[in-house]
Amino acid sequence: MAHKIVLASNNAAKLREIQAVVDKQRYQLIAQSELQIGEVAETGTTFVENAIIKARHAALQCGLGALADDSGIEVDALQGAPGIYSARYAGGHASDASNNEKLLAELQGVPDHERTARFQCVIVYLRHARDPVPILCQGTWEGRILQEPAGCNGFGYDPLFFVPSHDCSSAQLDPAEKNRISHRAQALQKLMLKLG
Ligand code: IMP
Repeated sequence: MAHKIVLASNNAAKLREIQAVVDKQRYQLIAQSELQIGEVAETGTTFVENAIIKARHAALQCGLGALADDSGIEVDALQGAPGIYSARYAGGHASDASNNEKLLAELQGVPDHERTARFQCVIVYLRHARDPVPILCQGTWEGRILQEPAGCNGFGYDPLFFVPSHDCSSAQLDPAEKNRISHRAQALQKLMLKLG
């Protein structure tokens, strides 16, 4: 029987991507919203801390083991911003569109070769809320920020993220291909190996 785990995220696109990579025969991922678990403030200063905060909160609420993803985009010309603040770059209730607009505005006049960036993802698995040995897996996806959005798949900064290996934006990739190569896919593949 598949092992039940709560998935500590309310981001529907992220949930879809995680569900697509995790082995469904072995793990039944239950979105925290299905268990009436709300969001928790992400008060950490690293992806690692925020992922643990989210996983611990969900595990505490329902008594199951928990999986959480904390991720974001680092832009070299902006000294690593927006980083852990990627979801709220344009403000507390920012939309993907307003975040993308702000990123383009901040990079106005920056030439292509200086627009290098990467997506970072940390996945945490806690066996229970007080698990003293969280499993942490990380993935990095290198690319650069386009001058204008392209494509409509994915979410967040995907339309602005140029993937050199595929010569297109991450929002122009087939979702199955993104789920094979992305920062999130890499972190989850490592987790699947660690869980054995
Ligand atoms: P979190 O929910 O606090 O981890 O915020 C992650 C934020 O980083 C998202 O809201 C997006 O803005 C951005 N992000 C993370 N992963 C991706 C991705 O795969 N594509 C596009 N944007 C992403």
